[in-house]
Amino acid sequence: MGKIIAVANQKGGVGKTTSCINLAASLVRLKQRVLVVDLDPQGNATMGSGVNKSTLNATINDVLLEAVKPEAALLKTTSAGYALFPANSQLTMAEVQLLARPAYESKLKKILAPLKTRYDFIFIDCPPSLNALTLNAMVAANSVLIPMQCEYYALEGLSALMVTMTQIQAKLNKTLAVEGVVRTMYDPRSLLVKDVTQQLQAHFGKLLYKTTIPRNIRIAEAPSFGLPILLHDGRSPGALAYLKLAKEVIKAQSVGQRRKRPVSAYA
Ligand code: ATP
Ligand code: MG
Repeated sequence: MGKIIAVANQKGGVGKTTSCINLAASLVRLKQRVLVVDLDPQGNATMGSGVNKSTLNATINDVLLEAVKPEAALLKTTSAGYALFPANSQLTMAEVQLLARPAYESKLKKILAPLKTRYDFIFIDCPPSLNALTLNAMVAANSVLIPMQCEYYALEGLSALMVTMTQIQAKLNKTLAVEGVVRTMYDPRSLLVKDVTQQLQAHFGKLLYKTTIPRNIRIAEAPSFGLPILLHDGRSPGALAYLKLAKEVIKAQSVGQRRKRPVSAYA
């Protein structure tokens, strides 16, 4: 049974999409069956997967609004070998329309339920806000993977995310867990890094991934080729880091270290 992981952080530009598509591609390399759900109207995960978001017949927008069946929007494979539910800017309108529907927060959960047996991992790339789309992701997900930069305001943003997760856990998804926190665009020379890392360790313990993702220009270039870093430059530090992170993600499943501790314990 596949695990559904929402990649979320309401702070913008922290590496959600980059982590989502590069983890997906790395897990494919490690023989996992992976689906990526682009749930951001920016459509960055779609473009970064080499799919032109403006020429699509159907997207996740249409599926959420029940205008088409999931199979009509599902791209069974991308250049990196994972499946993709693409998105584009129309998802903004879809979100507004969604709000008027009954049980709008459970739409994605229903869409993904029958697909769980087909994949080992399903990643949902969330937009940089805690809106109805992110809510759908967190209701559908088993866990939330949080990319973050080791910056001064990062921890503040993180506690807001934890409060949201606690509320969702109380009302809509009792078993929602933290999958892990990954430090992105990591620069060990930054004076703040040590301080922020210490605080993250205190809050998250084993849920803070040992692997850090370095700031690497090759990672930033890759989406313009519609490729994950692994296919753009497989020997770059960025590619090796995401591969290492993917191994850590797999290992965490078998060790079962994803703890049952309530999310509120991290808030
Ligand atoms: P948004 O909140 O807008 O959805 P995001 O959290 O998904 O953003 P990304 O789009 O993944 O963040 O990354 C933001 C920018 O930083 C992008 O231009 C991306 O290419 C770049 N970037 C991400 N990770 C790295 C890295 N490790 N090294 C260098 N550049 C990076
Ligand atoms: Mg993004």
